[in-house]
Amino acid sequence: MENLEIEIKDNPLLEKIKNGEEVLWINPGKIPFREASKDLPLTEEDIEDARKRLERFAPLLMKYFPETRERNGLIESPLTEIPYMKKRLEEKYGKKCRGRLFLKEDNRLAIAGSVKARGGIYEVLKHTEDLALAHGLLKPEEGYEHLGDPEKKKFFKDYTIQVGSTGNLGLSIGIISAVLGYKVIIHMSADAKQWKKDLLRSYGVDVREYQSDYGKAVEQGRKLSAQDEKSYFVDDENSKDLFLGYATAGKRIADQLQEAGIAVDQEHPLFVYIPCGVGGAPGGITFGLKEIYGDHVHCFFAEPVQAPCMLLGMSTGLHDRISVEDVGLTGKTQADGLAVGRPSAFVGKVMEPLLSGAVTVKDEKLYRYMKDLLDTQDIFLEPSACAGFQGPVGLWGNPAFEEYLKKNHLEDSMDRASHILWATGGSLVPEEIRRNYIKEAEKL
Ligand SMILES: *Cc1c(COP(=O)(O)O)cnc(C)c1O
Repeated sequence: MENLEIEIKDNPLLEKIKNGEEVLWINPGKIPFREASKDLPLTEEDIEDARKRLERFAPLLMKYFPETRERNGLIESPLTEIPYMKKRLEEKYGKKCRGRLFLKEDNRLAIAGSVKARGGIYEVLKHTEDLALAHGLLKPEEGYEHLGDPEKKKFFKDYTIQVGSTGNLGLSIGIISAVLGYKVIIHMSADAKQWKKDLLRSYGVDVREYQSDYGKAVEQGRKLSAQDEKSYFVDDENSKDLFLGYATAGKRIADQLQEAGIAVDQEHPLFVYIPCGVGGAPGGITFGLKEIYGDHVHCFFAEPVQAPCMLLGMSTGLHDRISVEDVGLTGKTQADGLAVGRPSAFVGKVMEPLLSGAVTVKDEKLYRYMKDLLDTQDIFLEPSACAGFQGPVGLWGNPAFEEYLKKNHLEDSMDRASHILWATGGSLVPEEIRRNYIKEAEKL
């Protein structure tokens, strides 16, 4: 702690963070992608490998999750332009949004209803393929859909999958693992919402509840899993597979932009705003996008003012050696998916040369964004997923952002920019809980 105080003293940004103020941080460590990519621990080939694996599993997903059939077994979401919300934000926050505003609707992803369907399901499928290959369960003449057959399910019954979660990762891992036949133990932090635990239990998942935060739930899960050689732990803080599952979003969205006739180049910059918890989802997505668009895509993370763990880790360079509690924040937020006190060091280091910056947002603003989006576009997001809106709102007119545009020679191309808010969750939220959220928003 003493060292920590020495390392973080005389830092005006930190003063604001400590006071729970909304901030914008521009990453001074970002470098041209061509240089950055040389030193990254993962490559485009790794993403391609993940993409192909998901294609191999598509027939299985179509068989057991009929809602994936319309996309041929791929778990993907629409990219939706939201002009009415853009107008509402401009009116409310008194700034002009230059360019077009889109919502990437991961709130509608099949199976898990959140961005966690990308990483979580991918990692469980990869583990399943590894086990199946090692035990001769994949016969050359059979497709992957046979991995769900009764005798194979019986095999997977002997194996356990465990994960620590604030809710949505548990949902994604729990549902896919239970359907494949695994025993599943989900270690839920105190922030996890009751309905998420109830839904998992309806799939026969063993949900363990902890009175402590997310970091402790992960620690418990990791420990318990290590005691059982047939147990596999999905490590949200360190997993490269999770990260690669998220990274496959890059090519998918590039295809969607191309289909919609939207260019991304120096004349047409792309800005992406992604809610951030421990960092895996936004980090993976950023990596995937950077591999495609390089310097033409500008990625910003958004975190709650009381749980800005990635911002703290990256801006101090301390990564997982600093927690939000260390600077006197509570870590408590209604944005359960973002209620993380200590960031992933793995992700933070990968992001050092890639990320454009980060913003923080107050909980009450999340409710306002939620209600405004519902009113203007008839789209419901859970509060965590609304953090992305703070991206444009926090950047517009901010001198630090003007400076960023100048430095990147973007001032003249902003009218041709596209902005994508990554909507990370919402479709599984039960009707009654939605009504409560909306009531909360109406009180503000
Ligand atoms: C988990 C989650 C995030 C952030 O993902 P991390 O990998 O924890 O950074 C964002 N939004 C929602 C709704 C989530 O569930």
